Amino acid sequence: MVKPHLGNNGNPVNFNPASYANGNLEKQKMKKKVMIEQTFCDVCGKETSGYNSCISCGKEFCYDCMKTHAVEYSHGVYISGSGDGLYCFECDNMLRRSTDPLHRAYRKIETLRYELVSFSEAFEARKTTAEKELAYLIERNKK
Ligand SMILES: [Zn+2]
Ligand SMILES: [Zn+2]
Repeated sequence: MVKPHLGNNGNPVNFNPASYANGNLEKQKMKKKVMIEQTFCDVCGKETSGYNSCISCGKEFCYDCMKTHAVEYSHGVYISGSGDGLYCFECDNMLRRSTDPLHRAYRKIETLRYELVSFSEAFEARKTTAEKELAYLIERNKK
């Protein structure tokens, strides 16, 4: 318990009974009110990090709802991460029919990613066939 500072007349100086009752006047003074901005998922209402919002309309998504209510575009053919594009389904559908340059640029990368995957699969199939053929011939020559 901290005793209040007494003035010349014996009365406490700047005495705040509420703070005094709490015990520590100094501690009370050091408390600060901090405003914290908190974002919530526009689908389920859960608290979110605030990093998963639709580029176009700003709708916020939690990690789970992002997977079911939005489309993610990578910013590179080989890489993804910072710079990726997130669009809610509504905006994605709308922008597909527009000439929005940013959305188009993201889709161009997406097309190349698909091309790479189908190329890799076709290549893998030919590679396997060629290796099997050679392995068979090597085996046959041993006999
Ligand atoms: Zn959610
Ligand atoms: Zn949107």
